[in-house]
Amino acid sequence: MSGLIPQHFINDLVSRVDIVDVLSKRIDLKKAGKEFKAVCPFHNDKNPSLTISPSKGFYHCFSCGAHGTALGFLMEYEHLSFVEAIESLASDLGLEVPYEKSSKPIKQNNDLFSMMEKLQKKFQDNLKDELKAIKYLKERGIDGRTAKKFGIGYAKKGWRNILDEFGKNEKKINLLTSLGLIIKKSDDNYYDRFRDRIIFPIRDARGRFIGFGGRVFNDEQPKYLNSPETSLFHKGKELYGLYECQQSMRDIDRLVVVEGYMDVIGLSQNGVEYAVASMGTATTNDHFNRLFRLTDSIFFCFDGDDAGLKAAWRALENSLIHLRDGRQIKFVFLPDGEDPDSYIKNNGTSKFEEQLDSGKDLSDFLIDKISENIDLKSIDGKARLAERAKPLISKIPDGIFKELIIEKLSISVNISSKKLTALISKVNRKESMRPKTRSFTKMMSHKSSKAQPSIIKKSIMLILNYPEAAKSIKTHDFKDYKKPGIKILLKLIKTTQEEANINAASLIERWRDDDEGRHLAKLAINLFPDNPEFDASKELNDSLVQITKNFYSERINFLIEKQSKNELSEKDKNELSRMIIRNKSL
Ligand SMILES: [Zn+2]
Repeated sequence: MSGLIPQHFINDLVSRVDIVDVLSKRIDLKKAGKEFKAVCPFHNDKNPSLTISPSKGFYHCFSCGAHGTALGFLMEYEHLSFVEAIESLASDLGLEVPYEKSSKPIKQNNDLFSMMEKLQKKFQDNLKDELKAIKYLKERGIDGRTAKKFGIGYAKKGWRNILDEFGKNEKKINLLTSLGLIIKKSDDNYYDRFRDRIIFPIRDARGRFIGFGGRVFNDEQPKYLNSPETSLFHKGKELYGLYECQQSMRDIDRLVVVEGYMDVIGLSQNGVEYAVASMGTATTNDHFNRLFRLTDSIFFCFDGDDAGLKAAWRALENSLIHLRDGRQIKFVFLPDGEDPDSYIKNNGTSKFEEQLDSGKDLSDFLIDKISENIDLKSIDGKARLAERAKPLISKIPDGIFKELIIEKLSISVNISSKKLTALISKVNRKESMRPKTRSFTKMMSHKSSKAQPSIIKKSIMLILNYPEAAKSIKTHDFKDYKKPGIKILLKLIKTTQEEANINAASLIERWRDDDEGRHLAKLAINLFPDNPEFDASKELNDSLVQITKNFYSERINFLIEKQSKNELSEKDKNELSRMIIRNKSL
C-alpha cells in the first residue's frame, strides 16, 4: 500500500511531525524532564506508564509494552490503515499527500487491474446464459442480489475461451500469464486456468479485483481452484469478503472468520454481513492486523470436523501475539457435519448468532486443548501442563489478558497462580514446544530476559537512541556476516551517515515493511545510562569492532576446520590469510 505514496514524502513527514503534538490532541500528557508521561490508552492503566520522547519521536509503555511512532500511534489508537494515518498526519501539517500516478511499476499494475476488471465482467456476463450455473446457485439458496453483490460469475467450458478473447497479442498473453489466468503448456501453447467453474472474484481493500476462486459443479477435483500468488494477489494478506462487508456495514462490531467463499456468501444471504474467509491459508499476522483494525471482537467459525478443529488451533496460536486488553477472540464449533453455510440455512440467522455468542473464549479453548490427555491430579501432569503452556503464554503481551489466562490455568490445575508462574518460568527451554529456529524476530521477542542484549542488538539500540553517534563510526567489516540483525544494522549505519538529523521515528518507519526492520521499534527503548559521562560514540565504535572480531574469528575457525579435513580450496586459503591479517590489525 505504501508504494502509492513516495517514500521520500513519508520520510519527510515522519521526521517533521511532533509526536507530542499528535498525542496531546488525543490523550493527556504531563511533562517529566526531557520526556512526557501519560496514562496508557492501550491497557487498563492506573499510573501514567506511557513515556513519550519528543527527541526520538517515540512512545513506549513500560507496563504493556505498547510502543511506536506518531504514525504507529494513530494506526493503533484510531484504527487507521497506514495510508489513512499518513493522510491524517499530513493534513495536520497542512500538506497534501502526493500520490504517485505515473511511475512505471504502478502503471504496469494498472494494466493488470484493468485486465482483471474485464475478465470479472466477462465471467459475470457468462453466468446469465448458463442455466446449469444459475440452477446451482439457486439450489444453494443464493439469490440474484447476493450473486451481484459478490460479482459471482461463470468460466465457460473449453480450453481457450479467455486465451482467444483476451490474449490477442504477446503483451496481452504476458499479462494473462502473470495474472495466472492462462497457463503455459509449451512454447506458444497456452490454456485457460478456469474452465467450467463458478467464479468467485476476490477484491482488495479498495474493491479492485485481484484474483478469482473457481468451484466445480460435480465431484471433480480440485473442488476449489484459486488464482496463484501474483503481484496483485497475496493469499496471506487478503480476506475474502472484507471489502463487501465494509461496503454493507457502517460500524463493524465484530467479524466472523470462516473457511470458504460459500460460507461468506451463504451468511451474507441470510443477513450476516460481517463474515470473511481466509483463502486456504492459516490466519496470518497480516490478517490479524487488518481484522483488529476494524473491530476488537473476532470469531472463528470453522467446520465441525477434525480439519476445522486443527484450523481453529492454528488460528489461536497465531493470534496470541495480537492479544491486548479489550480485544476478544472466540471460537465457535458447529455440530459435526455442518459448515456455517449449511448451519444458517437449516437453522436460521438468530440460531447462528446464538452459536456465535456461546462460542468458546480463547482462554478456555487454549486450556482445554493443552490439558488433553493429561492427568491434572498428578504432580507430573501439572508439570507437563506448565510445559505445554509456556511457549504459548510467553507469546501473549503482558497485561490483564495474560494474567487472566494464568489465573484460569491455575484454577484448573488447582495451584496458586504465583506457583504456576514459577513453574512455567522453570520449564526447561529444550523441552518447550517452541521451534528451534533462531530468527531476528525471536531474538527481539525475548524482552523478558534480564541478560545483556547481544552485541548486534546493542549496536542497533545505540544507533536508534543516538543516531548522531553513527557519524563518527571508524571501522566495521561484517557485511558478509550471516547473523540475525546484521542486514538491518548495515542499513541503519548507511542511512544515519547519509542523512543528517534523522531521528529514531524516521528510522523505524523507513523499514516498517522490512522483515528485519519491523522489529526496530522494540529496540528504541533507551536502556543506556542517562549521564553526561556516557559516550555513545565510543560504545558504538567498540561494539562494531567487537562484531567485526566475532565475524573474523568465526570465519577463521570455520576455515581452519575445513583445512584440518583437507577441504580448503585456493579461494579459501586466500580468505584465511586475509582474515588472519585483518584480525591482527584490529
Ligand atoms: Zn500500556
